[in-house]
Amino acid sequence: MNTELIQHIQSFLADIPEQVTVEAAAKTRTAEQVRAAIHAGVTVIGYNYVQEAEKMRSQITEKASWHLIGHLQKNKVKRAVELFDLIETIDSLSLAASIHLHCQSLQKVMPILIEVNSGAEPNKTGVYPEHVERLVRSITDFPHVRILGLMTMGPWNDDPEQLRPYFRLTKEIYEYIRSLKITGVEMKILSMGMSDSYHIAIEEGANLVRLGTCLFGPRQ
Ligand SMILES: *Cc1c(COP(=O)(O)O)cnc(C)c1O
Repeated sequence: MNTELIQHIQSFLADIPEQVTVEAAAKTRTAEQVRAAIHAGVTVIGYNYVQEAEKMRSQITEKASWHLIGHLQKNKVKRAVELFDLIETIDSLSLAASIHLHCQSLQKVMPILIEVNSGAEPNKTGVYPEHVERLVRSITDFPHVRILGLMTMGPWNDDPEQLRPYFRLTKEIYEYIRSLKITGVEMKILSMGMSDSYHIAIEEGANLVRLGTCLFGPRQ
């Protein structure tokens, strides 16, 4: 076991406010690194691709919650609902419908987050801010899908301070959806912020931060 890595992650986690959950964004990392993160106290492991998660899940027996943080392709839904405990990237009714159908036959309910395209960028994944309410309301038709919150990336920028307005907007949408008190919809997870921006995201209300570099070091 990599004790140096475990110690680094432990001391990193010690500085994170209590109400915030750290998710290890584990793409390209080894099973050994992911295991170290769990031993250090990380409880959520995020993967961008179904296939990579599948490969890792068979190697990691430690208990953790597995999240999908990359875009879900229609032809991967079946595997995704078997593998993941939560899918953070739902941005269309058709994806939710497909998850619902697969979960129905497995007799399970899939927790999801709605991915918000907070910068309203064409060609990017996520639902536009003005369409979040409509999507949330339509997904309530699917009892095998349960909305637990929102996720956003925000437009790419090498100055993380520039992301603040997008995090703030996503938090506003989150509070707004919560105020609607829609039956079957909970707003309890707000997933925003990566290694360079998590401190700003937390200031703006994130309670789940997705971190790769700060936990494991730069990717090769
Ligand atoms: C890789 C990734 C992260 C974490 O990136 P770092 O900059 O290494 O912290 C967070 N979210 C998503 C969706 C990612 O793909």
